[in-house]
Amino acid sequence: MPELVKACIRDIPDFPKPGILFKDITTAIKDRDAFKRIVDYITDEFKDADIDYVTGIESRGFIFGAPVAYNLGAGLVVIRKPGKLPSEVEQMEYELEYGTDCIEIHKDAIEPGKRVLLVDDLLATGGTASAACELIKKIGGNPVGVAFVIELLFLNGMKKMPDNKNIKVVSMVKY
Ligand code: AMP
Repeated sequence: MPELVKACIRDIPDFPKPGILFKDITTAIKDRDAFKRIVDYITDEFKDADIDYVTGIESRGFIFGAPVAYNLGAGLVVIRKPGKLPSEVEQMEYELEYGTDCIEIHKDAIEPGKRVLLVDDLLATGGTASAACELIKKIGGNPVGVAFVIELLFLNGMKKMPDNKNIKVVSMVKY
């Protein structure tokens, strides 16, 4: 039921910067049916994928990653903005429209070869998610799936996703 979820996502013009139409998911997660449908959708897409860890990207990826990990019987690993993780980290820089950004993961968060599902709220240019996949690989993990609640089709972010037939990439609501 992507339509029910879509109806609960709110557009905020010019946030956080002029010219950006921000997709606000707070209105979807406070709706009990929409929230359940989102979590059920991702769970269902990966229920037979033998996932060891779900990784959520700070901070909206945590909201969906945690219940999906619980449903799949997987562990939850967090990917965070710099300076937030207390133990030794590996980091990955990536390009933004203007400048660069950086994400971090604990070096020992994922044992070699473990099957990982990456979860985030929204796929725009794909820079964040592709950097997250690289980061997972850098510490030895095997990214086998990527799930988004929202995909902005006009930004062609899917093209940046790992070009590997063994990786399944899904999005629930498309604009
Ligand atoms: P990107 O790396 O370009 O694919 O951007 C994805 C990240 O930026 C996600 O973690 C989103 O939370 C956030 N983001 C980018 N564009 C938007 C938007 N229009 N509305 C809400 N969040 C966005």
